[in-house]
Amino acid sequence: MAAEREWLEKDYYKILGVAKDAAAKEITKTYRKLARELHPDANPDDPSAEERYKEVSSAYAVLSDEAKRKEYDEVRRLGPMAGGFGGGMPGGGGVRFDTSNLGDLGDLFGSVFNRGRTRGGATHATPGADIEADLHLSFLDSVQGLTTKVHLTGQATCQTCSGSGAAPGTSPVTCNACHGRGAVDDDQGFFSFSRPCPQCGGRGQIIESPCGNCGGVGLEHRAREIKVRIPAGVNDGQRIRLRGKGEPGRYGGPRGDLYVRVHVAKHKIFGRKKNNVTVTVPITFAEAALGGPITVPTVDGDTVTLKIPAGTPSGKTFRVKGRGVTPSGKPAGSLLVTVAGVVPTDLSDEQRAAVEQLAANDVDPRTALVGEAGS
Ligand SMILES: [Zn+2]
Ligand SMILES: [Zn+2]
Repeated sequence: MAAEREWLEKDYYKILGVAKDAAAKEITKTYRKLARELHPDANPDDPSAEERYKEVSSAYAVLSDEAKRKEYDEVRRLGPMAGGFGGGMPGGGGVRFDTSNLGDLGDLFGSVFNRGRTRGGATHATPGADIEADLHLSFLDSVQGLTTKVHLTGQATCQTCSGSGAAPGTSPVTCNACHGRGAVDDDQGFFSFSRPCPQCGGRGQIIESPCGNCGGVGLEHRAREIKVRIPAGVNDGQRIRLRGKGEPGRYGGPRGDLYVRVHVAKHKIFGRKKNNVTVTVPITFAEAALGGPITVPTVDGDTVTLKIPAGTPSGKTFRVKGRGVTPSGKPAGSLLVTVAGVVPTDLSDEQRAAVEQLAANDVDPRTALVGEAGS
């Protein structure tokens, strides 16, 4: 059934249960709620839900498109005349009418349909919408990058007709009014104007038997899985644009883009500052006082040995170059190692004696502090 003919028979406002003057926001909200309730995945044993779901989807496809909604309203307003006119359409496919025999009525319809088309509604090639999806990554995956899958539900290429819009076993045929060009010329005195072909709506092709699943649009609402490559070094909150992975276009229009918003989970021991990775490593009092090698884990899954000098205070940070995050095409960050002195909580008698011996030679470290407090 041609889209325009279906418009005459179906009240999309009633199908969605919204008022005729409902705001775009309300239409979207209502549609989302219905789509969730009626989604075939949620009603595996209820074929009537699937029917309703398709009905709701096609209603939304029209009412969510401002230009198309205006055109729909206008076609509905012209109701009875339009009904008679629609019945005269040959084959029930495409939009075919010969304005020369219709006089004023023809002009009226010509203006309604053509206006819609020139604004990019109706059957013009229209680009697919951009989509946004969320992706949750572990910290290490965000550092190293990975290829993964994003699951989303929305408009996708109709699987019944592979997006052609033609019923299986049939193919769209070249429009004989414009010979596939999609435009016709109007001679007006000295000038010649090109306008979208009224027979095929500018597509250059006519679908004689529309696909029963998508009604000839070539799209259907369904869940799909998209393979995405996430580059190394992505940050929490970053938006990655994947060109051409959005919703498919209509009637040969280009696909939209997919924007993946990355959410990075916190790691138990590693943190991130720009392209540097931070880690806090405990050291004993003896290591702090005497210095020595300490083993430090890295985001590459191995360890590095860091030599700390004698007399290292707790909280001091050391830099290990090249062991941070390396976003593609950018210099590698560093591993920033902060040492934290650990204080033993239960000393043996022997240890206690050794510490007491050490304390006997201590110089009060707060003498300067107290002195400066009054100045
Ligand atoms: Zn289809
Ligand atoms: Zn044509």
